[in-house]
Amino acid sequence: AGQVDAQDVPKLEVHFPLCMKNLVTVLKKEHHLKHDGRMQFGLFLKGIGLPLEQALEYWRMAFVKMNDEEFKKGYAYNIRHNYGQEGNRKNYSPYGCEKIIHSSTGGAGQHHGCPFKNFSPDRIRAEVRAQNATVTNSEVEELVGLVTAKHYNIACSKYFELTHPPSAPQSGPTALTEPITHPNQFFELSYKFSH
Ligand code: SF4
Repeated sequence: AGQVDAQDVPKLEVHFPLCMKNLVTVLKKEHHLKHDGRMQFGLFLKGIGLPLEQALEYWRMAFVKMNDEEFKKGYAYNIRHNYGQEGNRKNYSPYGCEKIIHSSTGGAGQHHGCPFKNFSPDRIRAEVRAQNATVTNSEVEELVGLVTAKHYNIACSKYFELTHPPSAPQSGPTALTEPITHPNQFFELSYKFSH
């Protein structure tokens, strides 16, 4: 998608994988995310092309209930740190599925991690139907079967296929040539799919 500015992010949410869709939904509702969620989502945004200055602007707007001083003290340093501008100056990469799936979750108010691992089957059913009202029961149950068998990456790939139906129905379902192993890969494939 090239360079992304803070105000472009909402338009691109349609291409986010479920893990990032979940975090951005919480961020919009609560105007806050805990540290692990900020890391997971912030590095993903870096990966879609959001440069440091725009990332600072995006998070400042998202944390609307906080004053400038609180934001500067508590959050701006971490954002610059993720971009290699503070501390050890390491340039951090966006997390892949493996790391996200194995991250520890479950604490109060924690929303990071992989939804295919953390959500109930009913919530997965509702999420896929919300993205594509025309999916059949058997398609949804195939997805849920992958989730209950703990094949989270394959479930995510199936979710991609079900939520990116081809424009010509007779061409059959969208088939990925490679399974989803990275949230930024999901984003790139989704973006390419519609451009
Ligand atoms: Fe995100 Fe990967 Fe889980 Fe898909 S499989 S929701 S991209 S962590």
